[in-house]
Amino acid sequence: MSEHGVAEYVARGEAMAAAEAQQRAVMKTKKFDTIAVHGIYNMEAALANQGSIVEPGYLSSAEHFENSDHMEAALAYLMPAWVYSRIANPTVHYLEETLALLEGYGFEGDVSAVATSSGMSAVFMATNPFLEKPDPGINIVASARCYGGTFMLFGERYGAERGVDIRWVRDPLDLGEWADKIDGNTRFVYGETPSNPSLSVMDIAAVANIAHAAGLPLIVDSTVATPALTRPLTFGADIVVHSTTKSMTSSGFAIGGAVIARHDITTDIGPDEMRENFAMYVKLLPFRDHGPSVSPFNALMTINDLRTLRHRMDSVSSTTMQVAQYLEGHDHIDRVAYPGVESMPGHDVAARMMWLVDGVDDYGTEVNRYGHLLSFEVKGGAAAARKVFDRFEMIWRATDLGRIKSVATIPAISTHQQQGDEGRELAAVPPNLIRLNVGGEHPDDIIADLDRALAVLDHSSLATPMRGDS
Ligand SMILES: *Cc1c(COP(=O)(O)O)cnc(C)c1O
Repeated sequence: MSEHGVAEYVARGEAMAAAEAQQRAVMKTKKFDTIAVHGIYNMEAALANQGSIVEPGYLSSAEHFENSDHMEAALAYLMPAWVYSRIANPTVHYLEETLALLEGYGFEGDVSAVATSSGMSAVFMATNPFLEKPDPGINIVASARCYGGTFMLFGERYGAERGVDIRWVRDPLDLGEWADKIDGNTRFVYGETPSNPSLSVMDIAAVANIAHAAGLPLIVDSTVATPALTRPLTFGADIVVHSTTKSMTSSGFAIGGAVIARHDITTDIGPDEMRENFAMYVKLLPFRDHGPSVSPFNALMTINDLRTLRHRMDSVSSTTMQVAQYLEGHDHIDRVAYPGVESMPGHDVAARMMWLVDGVDDYGTEVNRYGHLLSFEVKGGAAAARKVFDRFEMIWRATDLGRIKSVATIPAISTHQQQGDEGRELAAVPPNLIRLNVGGEHPDDIIADLDRALAVLDHSSLATPMRGDS
C-alpha cells in the first residue's frame, strides 16, 4: 500500500508546513531585534530538540527516514524534509527563515531566502537562472561600482565565456544611464548599494521603477547596508543578495551568502515557479544541481552574530561617522567616500534609504545610520597610500570587511586587482584608495592609529604643514 503510505507522509508534511507558517506569521508581528534573536525557533521546536534554547547545530550530512514511503515523499519534495545537507539542513533552515524575516521587515508581501556557501555563490545563484537559453545578443545591465568578484563573474564568466553583453552603468546615480542601457534583450538589472569599495549609492526605488517598466527584475547586493539599515525589497527591489560573511557574521568565523527574494518577481524568464517564489525555486532546483550549500556550522555562526545586528550596526555606524569626519579634515587626504558625509555624491539618496531600523531611544527616534565601511584617497598617489597602510599598528591589513575589528585594504592591489587598470577605472577604484572597515573598538583608538599612520607623510613635502587635531 505504498500510495497510501506516501499520502500519510504528505499529510504529515502539510501539518508541519502549517505549523511553521503560523510561527512565521507570529514572528512577522515582532520587532526587528526580536526576530534577530529568535528567528522561527520557538518553545515547541526546542522541546523537539532536547529542550535546547538555542538553535541546535545539525552537522549530520543526511536524514534517516522511517521507511520507503517517508523517503519517497521527502525526495519528491512532497513534504518538508531536509534529506541531505547539500539540499537542505535544519540549522541552515533556521538561518534562512531569520534572513527572510529580517530582509522582509516592513515589506507587505511574502519573502523567502536560500543560504549559500559564500556571497559569490549568492550572486551567481541570483543571476544565473535569468541567463537560461542565452539567445545571441542577450544582455544584462549592471552597476560597474560593484564588488571585484561580481565584476569578474559578470565580465569574464558571463561576458567573455558565454557571450552575454555586459552593459556597465558607470554612474549608478544617473537614472538616464540605467534607462538607456536597457532594451528588449535585457535579462536583469543589477546594482550594489552602498558599493564596495567606492561606497557609491543608487536610488533603489527609481532604478526598480525603470526595471519594472521594462518587465525586468532588479537585483540588489545589500551586503554593506545589511537589513538593519536598508531593506531593498521595501524600495521595490525583487531580489537581494548578501555576503553573510561580512557584517552579518562580524565575528569573522564563517564564509556564507544568501539570496532573498519577494514572491511574484517581475520577469518573463523561466518557469512559473521561478517567478512565484524565486528563492524557493533556486533552492529546490538549480541550487541542488550546482551544489553551493553552506556548512551548517557556518550557518550557526551567522545565526549567532545576527542576533545583535541592529545594535552593532548602530554603534559601528556612529564610530564610522566620527572617523569619516576626522579623515575629511586631514591634510593628507584628498577625498573620503562615506554615504554619511555631505560631500559624498548621492548623500541625499543615502539619507532617504539608510535608517537604523526601529530607530533609537527605545524605538522612538528615527536616525540615519550609514554603516561601517568607508574609503579614502591619500594625497601623493599609490606610494603614499602604501606608506600609510604599512604603518597601521592596530587596524588589520586584510582583504576583509564587516568585522567587529577594524580592517583595511588597498583594493587596487587586492579585491580589485584582477580586473586591471581599465576595469578599475570603470569601477572607480583608484590606486591611492584605502578601504577601511571600522570595527567596534573605541573611536579614539581607531583615530589614533590612523593619525599615527598618516603622520608618515608629514615630512614627505615641505609644503605640507604638520597638522593639528582637526
Ligand atoms: C565580499 C562581498 C561579496 C562576496 O562575498 P563572499 O562571501 O566573499 O563570497 C559580494 N558582494 C559584496 C558587496 C561583498 O563585500
